[in-house]
Amino acid sequence: MPRLVVVSNRVADPRKTAAGGLAVALAEVLNNTGGLWFGWSGKVLETAEGGQPGEGVVHRHQAGPVKLVTVDLAREDHDAYYLGYANGVLWPVFHYRLDLADFDAGYIAGYRRVNQLFARLLAPLLKPDDLVWVHDYHLIPLASELRALGCQQRIGFFLHIPLPPPMILAAIPGHDWLVRGLCSYNLVGFQSQTDHEHFCRYIQREALAQDTGEGTWRVFNRTVQAGAYPIGIDVEEFTALGQAHEGREMYQRMKREYSRRKLLVGVDRLDYSKGLPQRMRAFRELLRLHPETHHHATLIQIASPSREDVSAYTGILHELESLCGSINGNYGDLEWMPVRYIHRTVARARLPGLYRASRVALVTPLRDGMNLVAKEFVAAQDAEDPGVLVLSRFAGAAEQFTDALLVNPYDTEGTASAIHLALQMPLEERRDRHRALLASCRQFDVHWWCDTFLAALEKAQARESGTPWLRL
Ligand code: ADP
Repeated sequence: MPRLVVVSNRVADPRKTAAGGLAVALAEVLNNTGGLWFGWSGKVLETAEGGQPGEGVVHRHQAGPVKLVTVDLAREDHDAYYLGYANGVLWPVFHYRLDLADFDAGYIAGYRRVNQLFARLLAPLLKPDDLVWVHDYHLIPLASELRALGCQQRIGFFLHIPLPPPMILAAIPGHDWLVRGLCSYNLVGFQSQTDHEHFCRYIQREALAQDTGEGTWRVFNRTVQAGAYPIGIDVEEFTALGQAHEGREMYQRMKREYSRRKLLVGVDRLDYSKGLPQRMRAFRELLRLHPETHHHATLIQIASPSREDVSAYTGILHELESLCGSINGNYGDLEWMPVRYIHRTVARARLPGLYRASRVALVTPLRDGMNLVAKEFVAAQDAEDPGVLVLSRFAGAAEQFTDALLVNPYDTEGTASAIHLALQMPLEERRDRHRALLASCRQFDVHWWCDTFLAALEKAQARESGTPWLRL
């Protein structure tokens, strides 16, 4: 296999597997091919420290056979590229939240400047046969910038978040430039068939793309291949984590503590896409409609801090705190608190134990590319006595997990009755559903994702000499 070059906003040391399944999967191929991982260092340089827009300080590290190359960004670049365009425009719009987008005209220029900077620094490091794999919404225009510098390598892109329908995508000023950027790749991968269909519909309607068969399109004078490559977890790694000391200890502690109660669990980043207030309202509705659940069900909601300098996030934080407070105030008593809300990141090693001790997982995002918590919950269960997954139909995982209890998180009553069903579900049905979910998890794990995407990219022909489109 040719050398793999991974480009992503953040770079992880592939020797540190605590980074999770994605780093593990990429590390394997990077190690085997003596690969290169390129991205932002996470460091921002103030102007006084020499941070000039469009310039970056490069660091090189060797992590075993893998080269890590990271770039410090100037404050002005970071704020426009990362906080502004990536997190203030692309994140909300791609999650269907036009109301939260901030279309500040300065952001797109900073976004492009950083992508140009990355291309300029990466191009001289590439060898002709390299396979270049670019990750996520921070770096959509990277291939077109590399092509402008003459790079002919096979370049693939994977979008980890959803792609919205064409009418929503078209609300972004510069949407045509973004999609032209996507079409500069040889292969574009999406999390779900739905996202893939949105892309196909967009390029057909807005760019008169011609279907040339087998997932390929002739568009903007180039050939681009697109498809759904749903990401998975490393099931073996996660199961082993559950059997390790910390995982077992967590499981036993939770089982002891909740021996008389059924535990429900939610584990999320505190993000507006995760539907946390809606989930709390559904849980409140469950308590209102089913008094027999009082004293018998406790919801542990872990919400790790995320981007809390942004007002949309502080809004959700306050709403969640107030809902948890009022549920506990109205329904709790000296013996029982219905909700335990924890605004913290839990050590990864403890998660499998927590999942395994829970009878029900609530994974109810309003929109989510995939949602790996759903897969982790399934992988962590005891197959003899498994918990039930209540899953939003708007999570990418719902396409594969048709044996979960699928809910519409906007429908408070419907979600409450699904939670009730989950709490009551007989052992046999829990086993049947879990068996099907686990089989899907195993079949479409992170190694499948990585291998399938890279095999398709390897086959994609690096033969395009069409003009790149860089005009804003
Ligand atoms: P997203 O990438 O949008 O955060 P995913 O569900 O796809 O959502 O992935 C989240 C990852 O982060 C999972 O591996 C999950 O275990 C981990 N995670 C999420 N919230 C927490 C938390 N509060 N504490 C520890 N790990 C968390």
